[in-house]
Amino acid sequence: MPGFKLYNSLSRTVEPFAPADGETVKLYSCGPTIYNPAHLGNFRTFLFTDLLRRVLQLRGWKVDQVMNLTDVDDKIIKRATEQGKTIREVTDPVASIFHEDRKYLRIADAEHYPRATAYIPQMIALVERLVRNGVAYQAEDGSVYFAIRKFAGYGKLSRLDTREIQSGARVAQDDYSKENAQDFALWKAAKPEDEACGAAWDSPWGRGRPGWHLECSAMAMAILGETLDLHTGGIDLIFPHHEDEIAQSEAATGKPFARCWCHGEFLLTDGAKMAKRVGNVQNVADLRAEGVSGAAVRHFVYSTHYRKQLNLSGDALEGSMEAVRRVADFAERLAAAKGGTRALDDAADRFENDFRAALFDDLNAPEAMAALFTFIRVANKELDAGGTDASAVHRAREVFALADGILDIVPEPVEADGALAAWVEGQLAARAEARARRDFAAADAIRDALDAKGIVIEDGAGGTRWKATR
Ligand code: AMP
Ligand code: ZN
Repeated sequence: MPGFKLYNSLSRTVEPFAPADGETVKLYSCGPTIYNPAHLGNFRTFLFTDLLRRVLQLRGWKVDQVMNLTDVDDKIIKRATEQGKTIREVTDPVASIFHEDRKYLRIADAEHYPRATAYIPQMIALVERLVRNGVAYQAEDGSVYFAIRKFAGYGKLSRLDTREIQSGARVAQDDYSKENAQDFALWKAAKPEDEACGAAWDSPWGRGRPGWHLECSAMAMAILGETLDLHTGGIDLIFPHHEDEIAQSEAATGKPFARCWCHGEFLLTDGAKMAKRVGNVQNVADLRAEGVSGAAVRHFVYSTHYRKQLNLSGDALEGSMEAVRRVADFAERLAAAKGGTRALDDAADRFENDFRAALFDDLNAPEAMAALFTFIRVANKELDAGGTDASAVHRAREVFALADGILDIVPEPVEADGALAAWVEGQLAARAEARARRDFAAADAIRDALDAKGIVIEDGAGGTRWKATR
């Protein structure tokens, strides 16, 4: 078996990775905050995690993955208050949309999707443990804070300079910058607006609610145990979210919290991070309405290495739609092929090797995808050449299926509805007539009109075949 390597944000190097027990990877992936449908930037991170999950399985390990749904935090409470709803009324519909969108993008099911509000007792127990260990204290405002100077490892993930650590000073909100590296809230004393929207629970420190960072530590350890193999998220979570997760978990257990940390880079639009705040978000529902398949989105995301920034543009998406169409055509052709050549067999072997090598080397999806397109080119040529070797075709199908199981970029065949089909048939008849009277300008105009509706046509001996591509 070839080695498997990942870039570990903790050591800042690409290192060999294997699960501690040699069998099952305990994987925790920070999930969405469900107050708004996740945007394509969020989904870039979740698609990176999906690739990671599938490649770990390809390497031969089992995966036990947790992706949390954050259903109580500052942002959700603000939204619920504005809308006069409970947090549950805000989060339930968004959770359903998340799963719908995720399925559209073919993101494989994690084993667990815990909601933070279902783990309040575990969160309270974790805070109690921290208080007992002398690293957490209740302040005058009633909230419980983590004393960062009491935990020697504070700052090891984000490499905080010790000068930046302001001991004694406190930060109450969940989101803050490195300049404000202060004691952060584990348990927040309830305010009237928390009570009003159902975001307050009894605790040894009075009514209150968990801080966002605490939620992930408690859910991760409750489900996967005190040391995880892998922890993932977007790069913006390194500080403070993941730094604080490490502090809370390790100060409680005395054990390493995660053996390896992996972070995905941002999706940008026009050079700016895609973010709800910036107002440049694109949702999966928008793409769906525009006829962009989940397969095309996957192709687009995997065309760039997960540790590089990726810019969203109409051109790039069009390119991906075209690319996955080629993959679908090849899939169809391969399924129908009867025989192949020796060279096809060789190309299949080479492809499998290159594909695995690329993915096992820190998830190099662009290289794995390039290997796939090289294989498709060569295989198409070999299928043109004819050949009678059934085992070569079998082998080609086998490696193509293997790649498909990881990248999952073959689009669904598009069923044209009756009205569209009738329109296309009419256009094709008109085009045939135009060609018969040698009016090529008219024939081309019809072709353009078909093209604009995503109808691809192919003239062959038996007439013109067509298919809808969106
Ligand atoms: P949130 O719902 O804000 O908690 O974010 C969910 C996930 O999306 C986190 O792992 C973030 O790091 C990630 N994320 C947020 N914005 C982007 C972006 N523009 N590109 C890539 N990942 C992002
Ligand atoms: Zn988290």
